[in-house]
Amino acid sequence: MHKQNAIIIGAGPLGLTAAHYFLTHTEIRPIVLERENFIGGMSRTLNFDGNLLEIGKHRLFSDDDEILSLWRMLLPDDDLPERQRVAAVICRGKIFECPIAPTFKTIAGFGLFSALSIGASLLKSKFSRREETTLADVLSNRFGQKFGEIFFGSYATKIFGRSPEELGAAWNSRLPAELTAGGKFFYPKRGVGQLWQNLADKIKKLGGEVLTASNVKNFRVDDNKFVKAVTVESLAGTLNFPADVFLTSMTFDELADALDEKILPSHLRDIAKNLPYRSLVTVGLLVDKLKISTPAQTIYVAEPSIKLARLNIFNNLSPELVADKNSVWLGLDYFCSTDDDLWSMDEDAFVKFAADELVTLGIIDAGSVKLGVRVKVPKVYPVFDDDDKLAELRGALNDIKNLKRLNHD
Ligand SMILES: Cc1cc2nc3c(=O)[nH]c(=O)nc-3n(C[C@H](O)[C@H](O)[C@H](O)COP(=O)(O)OP(=O)(O)OC[C@H]3O[C@@H](n4cnc5c(N)ncnc54)[C@H](O)[C@@H]3O)c2cc1C
Repeated sequence: MHKQNAIIIGAGPLGLTAAHYFLTHTEIRPIVLERENFIGGMSRTLNFDGNLLEIGKHRLFSDDDEILSLWRMLLPDDDLPERQRVAAVICRGKIFECPIAPTFKTIAGFGLFSALSIGASLLKSKFSRREETTLADVLSNRFGQKFGEIFFGSYATKIFGRSPEELGAAWNSRLPAELTAGGKFFYPKRGVGQLWQNLADKIKKLGGEVLTASNVKNFRVDDNKFVKAVTVESLAGTLNFPADVFLTSMTFDELADALDEKILPSHLRDIAKNLPYRSLVTVGLLVDKLKISTPAQTIYVAEPSIKLARLNIFNNLSPELVADKNSVWLGLDYFCSTDDDLWSMDEDAFVKFAADELVTLGIIDAGSVKLGVRVKVPKVYPVFDDDDKLAELRGALNDIKNLKRLNHD
């Protein structure tokens, strides 16, 4: 018998995992409300003529035994194989295998003149360490200024929208670990969305609910700062969902919009609305073949003149993602802000632009694309630093007693 109800906003990995936790560890009955028609949030899998497109490619790894056994329960071993990370970086027309390190072989790959200048900057970094204020300082101390700039500078600028000189030292931890380290991960054979769909089904079997097309628009909060209910726009019209506990995956700005002025005064609302995020445009391209031979699942693009940030080769990640085994199914990840030209470009133009970039990089032949699709996902990466204003906003949200944010930011 459930003693309390929880409303969980968002059927992404965190919302679904929290709902499962309530059902298996507490007497709280969860209702998951998801705005979209699909499950999985950013971590979903889309099907295009049997070719499964991963949004950004989500590798699964965890140190937590309970999480690992949950994944194993949802997908048997055969469907959730463990894989070795295989990644590469394309830089100045050459492909370098990850992990990337300033070794003799890598530096020599640039030709004599560049190798000498990279080597000299590496030596300099060994003898005069920079105080680590910015990401550029960290990269310089770790790899030498030139090597850090060449391999990581343009990639960091693409994903974060600011150059390493403009980013604090802590941003180093947000660079993809596979650039500099090996390791293993789990990957569902038919895409990561399979895992979250199975989890949603399990939640329903255990007595919880997962309702899609249910957009949470407003929180009703009493004078003691307890949320009493949320108002939801759904296919059945505007509905009220009362509960005892509320968990949310909404971004700061969406949350601010859904709270009344007396709970979140206008200066905090303004802070929430002006926090910057990066958005993702993923292009799926089905091509005849690649001009390069590589086992890499992901190729990072460290070419400043190319907008593409990373290329996922799904055949190398999991062959079951590809319908036609004689073709190569690719996912191209572009990062931008929602006021960027890339974000407003129409689908056909974007697919052509993306294919042209792969031709320029020497990865495919012109005219080899058999299928092209484009998917946009807003606000995938928060790109704000912690400061006093953000602390005040967090404090005001924390004051709401039975509301918990699930987000990492
Ligand atoms: C390119 C890229 C690659 C990544 N790679 C990895 C990886 O390899 N491994 C890894 O572990 N993580 C990876 N991540 C991070 C991972 O995607 C996130 O950590 C994860 O998706 C967060 O889950 P979440 O449930 O908090 O949020 P989300 O996945 O964002 O889900 C939130 C859900 O809430 C819903 N929602 C929002 N507002 C409302 C509302 N008002 N009403 C109802 N529903 C609402 C949204 O529609 C969405 O479905 C990657 C992220 C990106 C962008």
